[in-house]
Amino acid sequence: MLAAYARALGGDRPLENLEIGERPTPQPGPGQVRVRMRAVTLNHHDLWTLRGVVGAPITVPRILGCDGVGTVDEYGPDRPPGTPDPGSEVLIYPMRFCGRCRACQGDDPMLCRSFTLLSDGDMEGSLAEFVIVPALHVLPKPASLSDAQAAALAVSFLTAYRMLFVKAALRPGSRVLIQGAGGGVGTAAVQLASAAGCIVFASSSSKAKLDVLAGLGAQHVIPAGRDAAKTILALTEGEGVDAVIETVGEATWGTSLRAVRRGGKIAVAGATTGPNPPADLARVFWHQLRIVGSTMGSLPEFRDLIAFVERARIKPVIDAVYPLSRARDAFAMLDSNTHIGKIALTIP
Ligand SMILES: [Zn+2]
Repeated sequence: MLAAYARALGGDRPLENLEIGERPTPQPGPGQVRVRMRAVTLNHHDLWTLRGVVGAPITVPRILGCDGVGTVDEYGPDRPPGTPDPGSEVLIYPMRFCGRCRACQGDDPMLCRSFTLLSDGDMEGSLAEFVIVPALHVLPKPASLSDAQAAALAVSFLTAYRMLFVKAALRPGSRVLIQGAGGGVGTAAVQLASAAGCIVFASSSSKAKLDVLAGLGAQHVIPAGRDAAKTILALTEGEGVDAVIETVGEATWGTSLRAVRRGGKIAVAGATTGPNPPADLARVFWHQLRIVGSTMGSLPEFRDLIAFVERARIKPVIDAVYPLSRARDAFAMLDSNTHIGKIALTIP
C-alpha cells in the first residue's frame, strides 16, 4: 500500500527523512479494525517525529499521521458488538491505552503511563491506504463535515477542547487568550471557545491570520509581540484574561504570564517555538497563577466534542488539500507556518 513514512529520524534536514512509497498492508489482530483511509490532516507531531523528537520510542521506517477519516475495511477476530459495519464512514480516535493501570481503571485514562498516539510506540500512523486501530476507537463520521474537516477533530480540536473546557474549565462569558491562534489547535480553540460564549482574544504574528480569526469569532485580535500583554490588559480594565491557551512556548510565554489575571490559568499543550522560556517564578507565586499541562483528550471527551461541533455547526478550517503523493509539499507548508488552520492529505 502507498504510505508517507519516516525512513530516518533527526539530522539537519528532517523533511528529507520523509519518504512516499510502498509499505506492507497491515492485518487486524484480535479486537482491532483495519480502516481504509480517505483523509488525514497534518499535525506538528508529524514534524517532531521527523526531527526525532518522539513521545514513545519508535523504529524506522515508521508511517506518519495521527488522525484521520476513512471507511471500515475489516475487523480482526473478536469484533466488539455495536461497532460500525464494514463500509461505514468513520472518524478515528487516535489513542490507545493499556486498559489495566489505575488511570485506565479510574476517571482519566489520558494519565495512563503507556498511552500511545497513532505513529508513536509500536503503532503505525494513518498517512497510508490502511491503518489498524482498536475496534472500539472508530466512531461514525459527522455527516455535516467533509472528510478533511472531520479528520481535524481527532487531534487539533480534541486538544483544544480538553484545554478549554476540562483543564481551564472555561464557562460562557470567560475571557480567554489563544496564543498562536492561526495554527491547527489555535483555530480550533477560537472556534470552540467562541461557540461556547467565551470572550476570545486571538494572538498571531500574521496580519492575514488575524483577519481570518476575527471572522471565526475572535472578539479581539492581538498582534503577537512586545505590546501584546499591554493591549490585553487595556482591553480587560487592567485585570487580564481568565485563561491562556498556550501551544507556542518560548516566543509567547512572557506574554501569557503577563496577560493572565491573578489566580488565572495557563493551559499548555505544546511548545512549537521551544520548551524552555524563563519560568518567572516570582510572578507565578505572587499572582497565584495555575499552569496546567494538557495532552489530547479522552474518548468520552471526543464524543462530547463531536456532538458539540455538530450542534454548533462548527466547520474546521482547512487551508489546503494535497493528494498523499504530494505529502512533501504538504509537510513543507506545515514547516513554513504560512498556513491557517489545517493542511489535509487525501488518500485516493
Ligand atoms: Zn493504562
